[in-house]
Amino acid sequence: MFFLEFALIIAIDGPSGAGKGTIATYLANFYNLKHLDTGLLYRAVALKIIQDNVASDDEMTLSRVALTIDLQNLKDPALRHESTASMASKIAVFPNVRDILTNQMRLFCQKVLPPYDGFILDGRDIGTVVCPDAHLKFFITADSETRAKRRHNEMQQRNQQIGESILEKIRERDERDSGRGVAPLTPAQDAYVIDTSSMNIQEACEVAGQIVNRYLKDRKSQSEAENSKAQVLS
Ligand code: C5P
Repeated sequence: MFFLEFALIIAIDGPSGAGKGTIATYLANFYNLKHLDTGLLYRAVALKIIQDNVASDDEMTLSRVALTIDLQNLKDPALRHESTASMASKIAVFPNVRDILTNQMRLFCQKVLPPYDGFILDGRDIGTVVCPDAHLKFFITADSETRAKRRHNEMQQRNQQIGESILEKIRERDERDSGRGVAPLTPAQDAYVIDTSSMNIQEACEVAGQIVNRYLKDRKSQSEAENSKAQVLS
């Protein structure tokens, strides 16, 4: 386990199937960070409105539902269904819904409590909107064919029903997420962009891990230099 001298915040963004969730889980375990998969919040709103038969453009009801989302209760397997993901990206265009969920995400990473040394959030707008001051930002991407293939394998492993148009659905969702007016999917200017198209998941995790290690090493030398300067001055 790593012991950090400060609370580390890592933001990970990217389209679906690029590997950001797996990389986030890996880094969370390795660096002892509390992890929030922020897509689950949008999915939870989507699932509730599907179950209650609410229209996807009824912003007032969507906002009311968003206010009831409980971060401790995001385990329903139906949250992982493709139909929930698709609805999530439809309701994610509404600024009011985004504001409410963004607020929840910021509350999540307000205070580091034992046993954690920081936070890691993954989503679409973490580095740009939710945590613009994160210490490290990653944008994980891959070409859409590779992402569709991965999604297909994942659904097979979960015994989920596989529709014929995974690639089409991925492209549709990418377009909606990247094209929306508020908090579109885009790399933060200071994000490390990792294209995982030709990597396996272990390689992708290692690349991200090396960047975190380098950051921590630089930060340690910086703080040692500052301490010795302070000692000379005192
Ligand atoms: O990451 P995941 O596939 O679970 O996200 C589902 C949908 O939720 C995305 O397609 C996107 O529209 C929305 N989302 C978002 N901002 C986030 C996380 C997810 O708009 N931070």
